Amino acid sequence: MTWIDSHVHLEDEAFAEDSGDVKTRALAAGVELMINAGSTREANCKILQNLPFDESMFAGMGLHPHEFPATADFYIDDLREQLSREKIVAVGEIGLDYHVFKGVPLPDMMAQQAAFRRQLRLARIFELPLIVHVREAYPDALRMLREEGPFPAGGVLHCYAGGPELLDEVMQMGFYIGVGGPVGYPSGDSVRLSVAAAPIDRIVLETDAPYLPPQSRRGLRNEPECIPEIARAVAGVRGVTLETLAGQTTANARRLFQLESAASDVWAYPLQNHMYVNLTNRCSANCIFCPRRVSRKLQAYDLTLKREPLAREIMFALGDVRKYSEVVFCGFGEPVLRLPVLLAVAREVKRQGVKVRVNTNGHADLIYNRDILPDCLGLVDEWSVSLNSADPEQYDRLVKPASGPGALAAVKQFIARAAAAGFEVTTTAVELPEVDIRAVEALSQQLGARYRGRTPQRLGEPEERD
Ligand SMILES: [Zn+2]
Repeated sequence: MTWIDSHVHLEDEAFAEDSGDVKTRALAAGVELMINAGSTREANCKILQNLPFDESMFAGMGLHPHEFPATADFYIDDLREQLSREKIVAVGEIGLDYHVFKGVPLPDMMAQQAAFRRQLRLARIFELPLIVHVREAYPDALRMLREEGPFPAGGVLHCYAGGPELLDEVMQMGFYIGVGGPVGYPSGDSVRLSVAAAPIDRIVLETDAPYLPPQSRRGLRNEPECIPEIARAVAGVRGVTLETLAGQTTANARRLFQLESAASDVWAYPLQNHMYVNLTNRCSANCIFCPRRVSRKLQAYDLTLKREPLAREIMFALGDVRKYSEVVFCGFGEPVLRLPVLLAVAREVKRQGVKVRVNTNGHADLIYNRDILPDCLGLVDEWSVSLNSADPEQYDRLVKPASGPGALAAVKQFIARAAAAGFEVTTTAVELPEVDIRAVEALSQQLGARYRGRTPQRLGEPEERD
């Protein structure tokens, strides 16, 4: 029987002395994976440092409502970079917390809402699931999730305390509920009613360690090894065996955070004399002509990723690339969302002397709010940008950028800057009757790029994945 603890804070000071022992005890209790939720700028940095060395750990990056109004703009820009890193599977924990603590200034609701909204937009751009903290603020939190949604990657309302009456709406939004220690508290009636009423495939377990210990450890430090005690309380409410609950909640967490078995995942695939890299299925656009939500099949390959590959896994899948004319970062998703991984792999490809092309939607400036091109000099040879339209309104209608309307201006700037910086820049467009291809061609030329030609709308041809 194995478990996933979907919400821990193991970077917390409370574990400074013995985090190794804590993990050993967690493993002994059957907790095979943990999601470390980042809550402050410092916590996020600390988590990222440890993440590569810990096989049982994945993480979310976010700024907790307690961080506001102390949070500056550059915190959000740092968060963009943090979200692009390996093993980051969620945005969070973020949210709203209106609880009034004695001796502490009243919560600044407006500042919290503004920060929540900005991070919700990042979740859309990165298409990552959300880890949401809500305390005494359910009406506002659900309203903002409605306003900023939909969130195709879903999310979890961690330590759910909204009661059974809000469950319908939570489920409609595609969210899960996180259930922790309070399910076993004498005061936990509302939580138990929610657990009884929620669909079993939308419940994930969590400790929130070091906080919210289960009943047997009230007043003490919580640890991920307490998951079985929480699970016993949940199994009791649901009337299922522990085995059933373990199987179900583990599958739920793996589905939500995209951590299912990667055994059948295709990370690299040759077509003719090109080698393609399948970095992600996530995208900052939702083009009306993109098949990725329906099918990610491409010739003999199914490019659905059940878990995103690590840089070293891609390098292993690529092997010796010298027999190919180029390595292309492509797939049914936007590779620039994983820029550090992309560049690590590109460095190895360039070491072998092979050309690197990146097929992109050109949203880099919108994703990172900075110029990423200097990072890519010497590692990327060609940017192939899906331009798709020369008309800003038509572009928004066809491409549906997650960053909101007006994205074409940023794409044009990216193309012009890349061309000026000496990269080879080509553009593509999907052939739709309403698109003025000659205008796309003229715009490309004007920006210093070469129009690659119309991309016919053949399903799954690599150049038109976006
Ligand atoms: Zn937490």
